[in-house]
Amino acid sequence: MEEVRVGYGILRALDIRKRGVEIISCPTCGRCEIDLARFVERVERGVRKISTPLSVALMGCVVNGPGEAKEADIGIAGGKGAGVLFKKGKVVRRLKEKDFVFVLLNEIQKMVQER
Ligand code: SF4
Repeated sequence: MEEVRVGYGILRALDIRKRGVEIISCPTCGRCEIDLARFVERVERGVRKISTPLSVALMGCVVNGPGEAKEADIGIAGGKGAGVLFKKGKVVRRLKEKDFVFVLLNEIQKMVQER
């Protein structure tokens, strides 16, 4: 009986993960050039109501970020004052740091409408 309950719990967890935006962020390391925790928090707030399954990566450096997050549908790799927007690991455009959240949320909205 216990096994059934555990299995059900796992299924429910998987189901929850399939819905809505999944935010992935890098563990950060010496290369990290942005305040990633604050960035994650702001994006999380912006995508809370979206139910379309999408994976969004927020990465701490431009050099390794896009490659490390190539499984994600979309993401931003941040650098000092500037960064890049990428989709499936490919850089789409460069961005100023002050535009990160605004541009990313706009792009996510466009992807949601396309799906
Ligand atoms: S993306 Fe950059 S900052 Fe983040 S863990 Fe990888 S190398 Fe470090």
